[in-house]
Amino acid sequence: MKTIEHFVNGKNFGGESKRTGKVFNPATGEQSAEVKLANINDVNQAVKSAKKVFESWANTPPLQRARVMFKFKELIEKNSDELTKIIVSEHGKVYEDARGSLTRGLEVVEYACGIPQMLKGEFTENVGTNVDSWSVRQPLGVCAGITPFNFPAMVPMWMFPMAIACGNTFVLKPSEKDPSCVMKLAELLQDAGLPDGVFNVINGDKEAVDALINHKDVVAMSFVGSTPIAKYIYENCAKNEKRVQALGGAKNHCVVMPDCDLDQAVNGLMGAAYGSAGERCMAQSVAVAVGKVGDQLVNKLSKKVELLKVGPGSDKSSEMGPLVTKEHLEKVKGYVNLGIKEGAKLVVDGRNIKLQGFEKGFFIGGCLFDHVEKNMKIYKEEIFGPVLSVVRVKDFKSALNLVNDHEFGNGTSIYTRDGDVGRTFASKIKIGMVGINIPIPVPVAFHSFGGWKRSLFGDQHMHGNEGVRFYTKLKTITSRWPSGIRLDPEFVMPTMK
Ligand code: NAD
Repeated sequence: MKTIEHFVNGKNFGGESKRTGKVFNPATGEQSAEVKLANINDVNQAVKSAKKVFESWANTPPLQRARVMFKFKELIEKNSDELTKIIVSEHGKVYEDARGSLTRGLEVVEYACGIPQMLKGEFTENVGTNVDSWSVRQPLGVCAGITPFNFPAMVPMWMFPMAIACGNTFVLKPSEKDPSCVMKLAELLQDAGLPDGVFNVINGDKEAVDALINHKDVVAMSFVGSTPIAKYIYENCAKNEKRVQALGGAKNHCVVMPDCDLDQAVNGLMGAAYGSAGERCMAQSVAVAVGKVGDQLVNKLSKKVELLKVGPGSDKSSEMGPLVTKEHLEKVKGYVNLGIKEGAKLVVDGRNIKLQGFEKGFFIGGCLFDHVEKNMKIYKEEIFGPVLSVVRVKDFKSALNLVNDHEFGNGTSIYTRDGDVGRTFASKIKIGMVGINIPIPVPVAFHSFGGWKRSLFGDQHMHGNEGVRFYTKLKTITSRWPSGIRLDPEFVMPTMK
């Protein structure tokens, strides 16, 4: 059985801990590897190696740091087929979807190539007579990242390319369910010329996470995962005086207006609800049918959900792969059972799907609920599987209130032909990322990704300008040369004369 270790100081690192976790191929249900689960000493080694090189990396000119990113980008492109296959084999999503997610990660690397431009400061000559003032953004130190299972390449790449390009060193703790992709990325970064110790990977679970939270040399933490853990990370990192951004779970609504192009909305919803088997933080799990559109919407959706081609991600004709683990599959099925008990109408039931040759895989077919109500748990909680709930409301205002009242605020969309409705929706909705006739409004790398409400704890979103701000601190320098240096002491607050 293959053992996945850690990556510390430029090489594989076995560590001291003897604990391991199991990594599965979700399509076959078979264990494909075991992964080391780090203890506190293993984490300390990684942080130590990151701390040791921080000063020299921070002093490396941004242009040279950018050149490493350019090379890294080339290597990702060259190895994209292998990286994609790793994602498919451990996460389960279908090949093209996995490749798309890698591309979205790659775009952050491309953005990080422009770091010299982004780190340019601001300068004002003569803020006072013969006094100049300028501001620079400097790196923070050792930063850490903790990532979820659903995007084993993209989400880590929201973090470390930005952090490293800004001059920080980094310790990443990927999901223990699909850690291989990040190990390969660490190798590629090394091949791109990154000095040993600038990027380190620690595999593990809560024990490793707690060691990072409590380590005094980790100065900033980026987290993406479920809301309860995001809150835990936010509170404890803040308590330990770290800078923190903690992105959590979601329940994304797609508002379908009666005037919209219904086929466009249905196609959009199919991809957004069932793509990646619903294991996306931007998946649309609620369709809000406004006015009389409900019957037609459910009718069109149900026909398509029944025809969804479920199969292993490696089969290029599959539209939807398996869920990541058996436990997750049981959890999703549990929600479908609950929905029936709560009184929602299960229009398409994917629970009993059987795939020849993949009987032990973690598959579930697409499920569609109609007449879901606001007070039901299947509406309130994140299911994170291919389960779409249709909620019917009487008008646009009720749809707006429904979305705004939900505890999560990651993404949302509206389908309409009415510009006034679209504009009002974008303006009044309390959600971080909004699509108008766009099903999954994931911002590109040069904008920033992040939700509102309980979908993000902290102040700054990921990548884009916000990413640069998160991974740097501002310093403002005011200087006077050389005349007027020899002044008598002044005891009043300086004002510019
Ligand atoms: P998770 O919260 O279970 O795990 C995320 C990370 O936290 C993993 O690295 C895991 O090892 C670690 N972890 C788990 N339990 C922990 C604990 N008790 N203490 C400390 N660390 C712990 O999330 P997941 O199941 O891997 O991923 C799915 C979740 O991530 C969903 O809720 C999804 O919405 C969310 N997600 C959010 C975004 C976003 O941008 N908002 C993006 C992707 C995924």
